[in-house]
Amino acid sequence: MEEDQLLELDARHAWHPYSATLDPDPVYLVRRAQGCVLELTDGRRLIDGMASWWCVIHGYKHPRLNAAAKAQLDDMAHVMFGGLTHAPAMGLVERLVRLTPEPLTRVFLCDSGSVAVEIALKMAMQYWQARGEPDKTRFLALRRGYHGDTYHAMSVCDPVTGMHRLFSGSLPQQLFAPAPAPAFGAPCADADIAEFAQLFKTHGQELAAVILEPIVQGAGGMRFYSAEYLARVRALCDQHQVLLIADEIATGFGRTGRLFACEHAGISPDIMTLGKALTGGYLTSAATLTTASLAETISAGDPGVFMHGPTFMGNPLASAIANASIDLLLEGDWQANIQRIESRLRAGLAPCRDLPGVAEVRVLGAIGVVEMREPVAMRSIQRCFVDQGVWVRPFGRLVYLMPPFVISDEQLERLCAAMQAVLAA
Ligand SMILES: *Cc1c(COP(=O)(O)O)cnc(C)c1O
Repeated sequence: MEEDQLLELDARHAWHPYSATLDPDPVYLVRRAQGCVLELTDGRRLIDGMASWWCVIHGYKHPRLNAAAKAQLDDMAHVMFGGLTHAPAMGLVERLVRLTPEPLTRVFLCDSGSVAVEIALKMAMQYWQARGEPDKTRFLALRRGYHGDTYHAMSVCDPVTGMHRLFSGSLPQQLFAPAPAPAFGAPCADADIAEFAQLFKTHGQELAAVILEPIVQGAGGMRFYSAEYLARVRALCDQHQVLLIADEIATGFGRTGRLFACEHAGISPDIMTLGKALTGGYLTSAATLTTASLAETISAGDPGVFMHGPTFMGNPLASAIANASIDLLLEGDWQANIQRIESRLRAGLAPCRDLPGVAEVRVLGAIGVVEMREPVAMRSIQRCFVDQGVWVRPFGRLVYLMPPFVISDEQLERLCAAMQAVLAA
């Protein structure tokens, strides 16, 4: 099919993320991708600053991941996980237990981030039911948080920028603490956590769990907050018998400079969700981890099982690629590499501070954010970035880079230069 036929089909029949079908935003036709470069059908080559929504950590078409996929295809692409098990999923379970904080030893594999969050919330609810505390059904979340687009996941997203207004009649009503004020690296004073602590006092009896993104609030605002704040949340949860769910779907696998962002605060959650970079961006796969004690309590309660079981859980192909992706990450000096990206982003984005309209520039690990005072005009800014030869997709007031970890110094320089040029214009 020709380029214009494909674009015509797209305009007529496809529905893109968060998009309208009337007067839709333009889309770019990509033919192939390799390393950190997206190649459009018209021959233009774009340096990728997004890692395809943060998951393609090793770059596109990586020989090791391709080989893992091909080898797995020769054995089996998929079998059900009900009553069957296999080496790829056991390889993944073993790696996740070994790498995540100590008490997390039970792994529920599933198919996407939002589903991993649903599973985490259901685990917390079933846990309290099994403990004979059926009133503990509500969740406490942070403003500016993002946890996915499915129903219960939506209910714990930021109530203003999320989708609460649209579905308010049918969404469960959760509790929200202010977005953490102290920045990453800063201490957390009593006043910074006072409102959060107050919610525990007034609602502790009905709280099943706190759910948050540790250290980095991603799609809800790209905010980096104090590790001390996170440590104090953990302490409050222990004090009031409330579970802590750490949603590491965006932060997991090294993005913030630690393998998991919880490590910045030296804490471990009762439940952890993983997704995005899990398969190096090859296939959709996710996981919800919990402790042996929580799993045993659920299993000993009524109805004696955990009530979830997606068709594609433990998918062998996705698991085999995830195993190769994790091995690839850990074999190199990934920490030094993230530091390299961090210092390049710091240097490369610093000049943006002086541009008109820029509110703040912040960098943590392989995440570089330029926050504008006003929302950017998506259509025109997207075209400007493509004209500069880079793929950067802002949202709201946030123009950011989250490149693949294999990005070269020269490619990083080009991404940062494009940010400067586009934001200056
Ligand atoms: C992306 C994301 C999700 C949702 O994952 P999907 O795979 O898009 O369903 C949930 N939580 C966080 C923190 C995320 O960044």
